[in-house]
Amino acid sequence: MVSGTPPPAPPAPRPTPPVPLDTCARIEAVGKAESSSDDRGRSVLSFLVSGLVHAVLMIVLATLVAVSLPGNRWDGSLILSASVDEPELERELMITATPSVNTVRRHDTHLPLPPAPVPDVDLYPELPPSEKPTMQLGDISLWPAEWGNLVHPLMGGGLEGRFNRAGRSGDGASDESEAAVERGLWWLVAHQRPDGSWNFDHREGNCRGLCRNPGTNTSTTGATAIALAPFLGAGYTHLNGQHAETVRRGLYYLQTRAVTTSNGIDLREGTMYAQGLASIVLCEAYAMTKDGDLKDLAQGALDFIEYAQAKNGGWRYELQEPGDTTVTGWQLMALKSGEMAGLRVRSPTMYMVNDFLDTVQSEEGAKYGYQDPSPRPATTAIGLLCRMYLRWPRSHPGLMGGVHYLDELGPSENNIYFNYYATQVMHHWQGSEWKRWNDRMRDYLVRTQSNQGHENGSWYFEHNHSGEGGRLYNTAMAIMTLEVYYRYMPLYRDSWKE
Ligand SMILES: [Zn+2]
Repeated sequence: MVSGTPPPAPPAPRPTPPVPLDTCARIEAVGKAESSSDDRGRSVLSFLVSGLVHAVLMIVLATLVAVSLPGNRWDGSLILSASVDEPELERELMITATPSVNTVRRHDTHLPLPPAPVPDVDLYPELPPSEKPTMQLGDISLWPAEWGNLVHPLMGGGLEGRFNRAGRSGDGASDESEAAVERGLWWLVAHQRPDGSWNFDHREGNCRGLCRNPGTNTSTTGATAIALAPFLGAGYTHLNGQHAETVRRGLYYLQTRAVTTSNGIDLREGTMYAQGLASIVLCEAYAMTKDGDLKDLAQGALDFIEYAQAKNGGWRYELQEPGDTTVTGWQLMALKSGEMAGLRVRSPTMYMVNDFLDTVQSEEGAKYGYQDPSPRPATTAIGLLCRMYLRWPRSHPGLMGGVHYLDELGPSENNIYFNYYATQVMHHWQGSEWKRWNDRMRDYLVRTQSNQGHENGSWYFEHNHSGEGGRLYNTAMAIMTLEVYYRYMPLYRDSWKE
């Protein structure tokens, strides 16, 4: 299976132009009229400078396109087992999309401080005493009133558990799994780049290639977002906890890569996957801190997701291209994070996701396919999680059937993508199915975490095209899977009794 699937043909590939890291640079829209009419000379100068900047950008872009396509894409999607063939999934999450080029302007607000130099992290630190942040999450509007009768009042699913990890331990975490989370985060710290970003090719800098399995995908917004998410998931923000500086530098980097368009803030670097993940991170960081510097950025990222939604309610490679389940899953999670942060998400956007899911479901919504109802394990886990966030009641026959299906499958040995989604489904479900799942999943991840050399604290599961996301992707997903007890509170916590 690893080499059995031919590489997918790129759909009209052209990555969003990566822009040099001058965070104060403002690259005005092509053809956008100068608004000032009282200084024609300055306007002409501006035009000349703008032309020069664009010429340079075109050269940079051409170079990047030449060196990055078509071989360096990571589908990001890993399949349940060798016996399950889900070829389309393999091309999904990291596929290049056509950029929106009508306006290009760097987002120019600032997090308080520029990136500091990366410390030469001791990869063998005494594991810090397990600090259990006790800070209470602020007053977060979890369920805006405009949702009205579309949904029921939110029963759970919030972020407050992140600040009370010790209090959530009764939900299934162990001392070993919590230590694994901390070790995993330290591995991420050790592989952050000097500009605050992460790269799927993690070897740059202090690593010096000591860790195997570098990824090949080149999306730095995707890599940075997926690396930041586990810090937030464990309660570490840019304003609190021992990883504050790491998180702040990462958020700062995302900010420098934000491209303001007339339809919102584009963080794709060529892939809607990165847009979804970066949006999740920005929304959650804002929700957890209420840091006003993040609000416009997070809102703009959500706006862009809404703009990119297809008429069938889903998302895919291209803007407004009829959707598929995997790309759609990341965008819905981003929109839900925005809701939790009290940001603006239009009700029709969410409602249309249900319409899309209707087109790929089977067995009354127990199973889900990729772009049609042919069921597959990974897309089933995604579809079920989406339905849960879209307020299907626990008594829904589709959810009951789907959970039974996942329960019978059990965790995968090498598909971290399936495990990440299915673990969340089972955690929201709770009950004996959750206990059964967790006992296997948690201890398997604890056992498979590396404790060797510079790889100490990381994971890598060889599976299909997992090499494109590499060790960084596998590690981030494994950490978040082990954070399930507190990363999102169970959605049905008040309704299940056994
Ligand atoms: Zn390393």
